[in-house]
Amino acid sequence: MLIDTHCHLMEPHFKADVASVLQNSALAGVSKLLNIGCHLEGSRDSDCMCRPEYLKEIEGILGDNAILPQIYGSQGIHPHDSNQTTDEVMGDFEKVIRSNKRIVVIGETGLDYFYMNQPKEMQLSSLRKHMVLAEETGLPVSIHCRDAADSLEARKDMLRILAEFPKVRCVMHCFVQDQEYADAVLAMPVGHILSFGGVVTYPSSEALRKVASGVPVDRFVVETDSPYLTPQAFRGKRNEPAFVVATAKVLAEVRGVEVEEIERLTNGTAERFFGILGSNY
Ligand SMILES: [Zn+2]
Repeated sequence: MLIDTHCHLMEPHFKADVASVLQNSALAGVSKLLNIGCHLEGSRDSDCMCRPEYLKEIEGILGDNAILPQIYGSQGIHPHDSNQTTDEVMGDFEKVIRSNKRIVVIGETGLDYFYMNQPKEMQLSSLRKHMVLAEETGLPVSIHCRDAADSLEARKDMLRILAEFPKVRCVMHCFVQDQEYADAVLAMPVGHILSFGGVVTYPSSEALRKVASGVPVDRFVVETDSPYLTPQAFRGKRNEPAFVVATAKVLAEVRGVEVEEIERLTNGTAERFFGILGSNY
């Protein structure tokens, strides 16, 4: 049993077959997943897709043998779309969070200085608005952080903002940075966690596997970021939550433990961090 802490099932890649993708996830042992919104429309979909009516609809499509993971959601705007982050939108997010207890995380939000699709100041302002919402609601934040080539500016700005909000817990989604940044994030007393996805399985990710091998047992989780970043074992295919198993296997190898131990550790951390112990439904 595993928890995919970050996927995007509302993306067009899943439009034709989301019911069977969900069923395959459950069959592969993914018992819970966090379906993350990253713009206005995606956050609306994330809310709808973790409501009981949606699950009924999917069960109807699958018929008698339906088996499904528990679906949780988020409200947030990715740095690529940070021009959408107005006070009005954040107010709407807060209403959704207060009305749907399956929304368990804010984001994804963050900083992307690699693509720089929006000006830096706009990304910083959007990130801060998400952190304020997290302070007000008590939910953790799913953080995207990507530096421009040969620069550490995004991670430096990120550490500064995390320090501005000492009570807000963050999951560093798709963690790909170095030991120094991991140490700085993990040293903050609030208890941030790192999330490892497909990138840790790539042949070129030797340094990242070294980082992953040393993270304290209660400070990491796994994710797919599907439909993107397919693990090496399934490279060339569309990524989906079922493939999180491949990432867990690699983490087991580098940490020198059985995959069951990675399942036990990451499930425990995800359940505690996102407050999704038991069924929550
Ligand atoms: Zn994502």
